Amino acid sequence: MKTTSDFPSINERTPDGQSNGGSAFKVLVVDDSMFVTKQIGQILSSEGFNVVGTAADGLEGVEKYKELYPNVDLVTMDITMPRMDGVSALEKIIEFDKDAKVVMISALGKQDLVKKALLIGAKNYIIKPLDRKKVLERVISVLK
Ligand SMILES: [Mg+2]
Repeated sequence: MKTTSDFPSINERTPDGQSNGGSAFKVLVVDDSMFVTKQIGQILSSEGFNVVGTAADGLEGVEKYKELYPNVDLVTMDITMPRMDGVSALEKIIEFDKDAKVVMISALGKQDLVKKALLIGAKNYIIKPLDRKKVLERVISVLK
């Protein structure tokens, strides 16, 4: 039987989605747009991240975070969502876990809400439309 050692990798770098120990970072994606959720999932999975959960509004996002905790390393949090918006959901998550790592996903023109989120404790933000490079760069800066 062939093992991986028979096929030495050309690329020895650790994929961005993995810690130096080799385990995948676990991400919860909260967004009411299925398109954006899928897009973030694809970008992150392609770099070895593990999307461990998704939620379609803030309320569900807070519930999922509590369910997954402590097995969740990062949350991507949309701002505009039904039932509970992303800034309120962020507040609830920080209340529950002050060390939570949350990256806000914002439409253009929501600077005030992004600022508010950063004051509450969001670690970074990404403006839509999502750019693969920027998503990875911002997410990684929060994790490493
Ligand atoms: Mg939205």
